Amino acid sequence: MKRFQDKSVMVTGAGSGIGKAAALRIASEGGRVFCVDLNQEALEATVAEITASGGDAQWHLCNVADVQQVEDTVAACVKAYDGLYALVNMAGILRFDDTERLKLEDWDKIIAVNLTGTMLLCRAVLPHLVESSGSIVNAASTAALSGLPSGAAYSASKGGVLAMTRSIAIEYGKRGVRANCVCPGDINTGMTTGIDYPDNMDFDLIPRIMSLTGVKGPETVAGVIAMLACEDGIHITGEDIRVDGGTLS
Ligand code: NAD
Repeated sequence: MKRFQDKSVMVTGAGSGIGKAAALRIASEGGRVFCVDLNQEALEATVAEITASGGDAQWHLCNVADVQQVEDTVAACVKAYDGLYALVNMAGILRFDDTERLKLEDWDKIIAVNLTGTMLLCRAVLPHLVESSGSIVNAASTAALSGLPSGAAYSASKGGVLAMTRSIAIEYGKRGVRANCVCPGDINTGMTTGIDYPDNMDFDLIPRIMSLTGVKGPETVAGVIAMLACEDGIHITGEDIRVDGGTLS
C-alpha cells in the first residue's frame, strides 16, 4: 500500500535539496506532487525525474513571498488535482552576516521568504486542508533551537516558523488538520554548499557534535517529512522533529 496513493501534495522549494528530495519521495509513494519554486529549470528537472520513474507531478513557478502569486499557485494546484492533501513548505534562503552589520534589506528578505512566505502558503491552503483532513510540514531548523552565529535573521525566521506552526496546530486540530516542522541540522544541499561566510566567522560557535556521520543528504529529511505528512503521522501535531544526526543531543 502506497502511503500517498492518489493524494495531492504541494511541495515548495521543489527545485533543490530537501524540497526536491521530498517531492521525489512522496511521488514514489503514489502522491500527485505539485512542485513549486522560483527556478523553472530546476522545477522541470524535478518533474522530469518523477515522471521518468512513472510518478505524477506538475510544476508551477511562484515566489512564495508574493501574496498574489501564492494565492494563484494554490488555486492552480487545487484545480489541477481537485483538492489538496498536504503542504510541504521547504522554500527558503540562508545568509550569514555579523549581527552589527546586518542590513535591514537582508533581514527583510530572509523574513519575507522564510517566515512570511511559509505563512502565506499555510493561510492559502488551510481551507482546503480542512476539507481533506490534511496536514502541513514546514521547514524550521536547528538554528531555531540553538541559535546560529552570524545567522540572527535566519534563526529568527525559523523560530517564527516553529511558533507559527504550533499555533496552527492548536487552532486547526479540532478541524482535523495537523501542522508540524522538521528541524534539519547541516544537510548537504545547494543552500549549504558554496555559502558566503563573514571573514571573521567563528566556526567553533556552531554546534558540530555529530553522533551520526555520513548521513547528511536531503533524503534523510525527506523520509521524516513523508511520515509527518501522511497517515503514519496521524497522532503527531505541533511537533518539531530534529533531523540533525544528534547534533543538538
Ligand atoms: P536549497 O537551497 O537546496 O533549496 C531551496 C529551494 O527554495 C531552491 O530551489 C530555491 O530556488 C527555492 N526558493 C528560494 N526562495 C524562494 C522563493 N522566494 N519562492 C520560491 N522558491 C524559493 O535549500 P535546502 O537546503 O533544500 O533547504 C530547504 C529548507 O530547509 C529551507 O527552508 C531551509 O531553510 C531549511 N533548512 C535547510 C538546512 C540545510 O542544512 N540544508 C538546515 C536547516 C533548515
